[in-house]
This record gives sequence, C-alpha cells and structure tokens, in this order.
Amino acid sequence: MTSEHLIEGESLYAAARAQFLKAAQVMNLDPAVRTILEHPKNEICVNFPVLMDSGEFRIFRGYRIQHNNILGPYKGGIRYAPQVDLDEVKALAAWMTFKTALAGLPYGGAKGGITCKPGELSQNEQMRLTRRFTHALGSNIGPESDIPAPDMGTNSQHMVWMFDTFANSHGGSDRNRAKALVTGKSLACGGSEGREKATGQGVCYIIERWAKMAGLKTSELTLAVQGFGNVGYFTALIAQQMGMKVVAVHDHTGAVANVQGLDVAALKLHQDTTRSLNGFAGGETIAPEAFWDQKCVVLVPAAIENQLTSARAKRITAKVVVEGANGPTTREADVVLGERGITAIPDILANSGGVIVSFFEWVQNRNCEHWELEAVDRKLHELIIKAFENTVERAKRYKTDLRTGAYVVALERIAKAYAERGIFP
Ligand code: GLU
Repeated sequence: MTSEHLIEGESLYAAARAQFLKAAQVMNLDPAVRTILEHPKNEICVNFPVLMDSGEFRIFRGYRIQHNNILGPYKGGIRYAPQVDLDEVKALAAWMTFKTALAGLPYGGAKGGITCKPGELSQNEQMRLTRRFTHALGSNIGPESDIPAPDMGTNSQHMVWMFDTFANSHGGSDRNRAKALVTGKSLACGGSEGREKATGQGVCYIIERWAKMAGLKTSELTLAVQGFGNVGYFTALIAQQMGMKVVAVHDHTGAVANVQGLDVAALKLHQDTTRSLNGFAGGETIAPEAFWDQKCVVLVPAAIENQLTSARAKRITAKVVVEGANGPTTREADVVLGERGITAIPDILANSGGVIVSFFEWVQNRNCEHWELEAVDRKLHELIIKAFENTVERAKRYKTDLRTGAYVVALERIAKAYAERGIFP
C-alpha cells in the first residue's frame, strides 16, 4: 500500500478497526477473537433533559461505548465536545481496549461523551449536565464494572460531580466505595498525586526513551506541540523542565513559535488571560498552517483526531511523531511517515500515562492508601517504558512499524485470556 492508494475522510471507527486488523493479520490472531474485537460489546446512547440557566430545558445526547472487558472492568474517559458522535466514541473506546492491554492493566476499554459546546455552558449548566448524564447511565457504570475518567472538555470537577451523583443514588454502605467509580478526581475528593499531569508526563518519558534509542541527548531535542489543553500543556511544560526546547505551539486559537524556545509557563499565563495563543510576547505569532513547517526533532500532536493528514505529513521536518492525542494521524499520513522514514510512536502507547495513573488512583481508592508523587511517577515510568520496550521488540520480530507492534502486544494479552477462558457458552 502506498500513499496514492488511500482516501482520507473515512469513518474514525473504520480507521481504528483497520489498525487493529493489520496487527491481527501480522500475528495471525485467532479469527474468533478478531471477530469479537471488531465490534464494541455495548453501545449505550442516552437523551436527557438539562435545565439551562435561562429556565428552559434542553435535550442532550450522551454515549458510553463499552468495547471489551475480557481483561477487567471497562475503562476510559468522558469527552464533552461538539463533534462527539457514535462513530468517534466507538473508535475512542476501541483504542482504550488496546491501550490498557498494552500497558498491562487489569482493564478493558470504553469511552463516553456528550455532544455539546462546553465553552458555551456555565459552570452550573455543566454540573447539571454531568449529574443528569451520570443518572441516565445508571448501573451501566460502577467501580467494578465501568470506570470513567476525564478526556477532552472534562476535568477533575466533572469527575467529582459524577462520583457524588453516583454515591447519592446508589446509597447505603456503598457510599464510600463510590470513590473508585471514576478516576481523575481532585486530590481533596480522592484523586491521585500526579494524575493531572500524567498523560504529558508519560509522553515525555516516551520522548526521553526514544531519544536514547536514536542516540540523541535530551538537550538536542526541539519540540513542536499541537494542542495546549491538558495533554499539550503538561507535555510542553515537562519537556522544558527536562531540558528540551519547545519551539512551536499551535491550538484552535492560533500558533506561536520561537527557535530559542518558548517559556511554557508564561505562554499558559498568556492563554489563560487572553483566551488565545496569538500575541504572546515571548514568541512570534505565525499562521496556524505554518506550524506544520516549523523545524523540530519531535512533533507532538496533542489535540484532536485526523490533524496530521498526508499533505501535512509530507511537509513536517520532525524525526519522530509522538501521539499525545488519540488518533491524530490519518492512515494515509501513517504511510507517508513510513515512506519518509519518520518514526510514529502510536497513541495507545504514547498517551497511556493518563490511564496508567488512573489505575493507580483506583488502587489507592480501593485500599484507602495515599501514594506520594515520587512513587506515582516511578511506577508510571516503569509501566510505560515496559510497554515501549515490548512494542519495539514486537515491531522488530514481525518486521513492522511501532503502531502494529503495539497492537500485537495488546492482542497477545487479550487472545491469551480468551484462549484460557473460552468464549461463552
Ligand atoms: N481519556 C484518557 C485517555 O484517552 C484517560 C482515560 C482514563 O484514565 O481512563 O486515555
């Protein structure tokens, strides 16, 4: 397959399915397991009314897609964004199945979301939206069955509302156990040290490990980061603290560059006060599309899906693409990267720091423990580097790319569980 034979614009779920089918073929996966994984187990769609500040009611649509749970409870975030639809949530749920399996966690995969514009909703409207959604999901979620977490458009506050609503509607002696319903909570309400920055921290551990493999020093690394939300911001901040230089940042509001390196904390302050990246005094405002031409060693797409298209992949100067976002690279772009000899470190590996620390939070909640930040970071490093090494090993063994190598590691674990348990009945 070359870049000329593909068409961009296919459904996201079809793209996710194609990635896993490639690995299934390479490793000769049991056809029964392949068939099961081709479809999510449960597709939950709820329409529910929410009281707006104006006094009117509006109907919102929410989803929870439970892709697979052979390895443990369903696990995955809740996204609030205007583009949320069944196809997107299905793809994101499938990626969670492979992400948790690759990291060696005792979890399956799920994803949820509400189609909405969170920026246009007041704090009170978001609270009522979240509580009503949690109520509508009812017993479809639970600390032993399906454990939500933050994703794009949601944060620790949304998680705290979810668990509080669940605790109040599933009363009795279960009230305290309800804490383990969601991860990514605030520290005051049972969250874990290091969870907020975890995805960015994991991305940086992966960059560091790749550099070692490529024979580069951290101080030689220049980064371009697309997206300046939770993942993009913490990736940029931690990368800078590790001695890398962040030379360009781009989000939906604009783009800035500085070959000497941007001061990430100052850029965040600028974004918080002006609601835009443009006009930052510590860099030059550039046209958003020019972001993809900036000279860098590492490109981190940390925004939404399908940002790295084949046309952009032909222009980028990076040696490595580290996928902070889920599904940022189109299948055509993946082929272009391969043709150009640019390494792509796949989302299910690169951004797994979030769900890894979510697992630590869940364990702490269940054991009534509190781990120090140093312990959380050390354990995160251990698990994500192990996943990286397994991925590199499988890619070598099957003479394939890292994305396929990562899927092989995940599928081996899933297939082994099916082989030993059998398929019911
Ligand atoms: N939403 C994050 C992801 O896409 C985190 C999921 C979780 O912690 O369960 O991986």
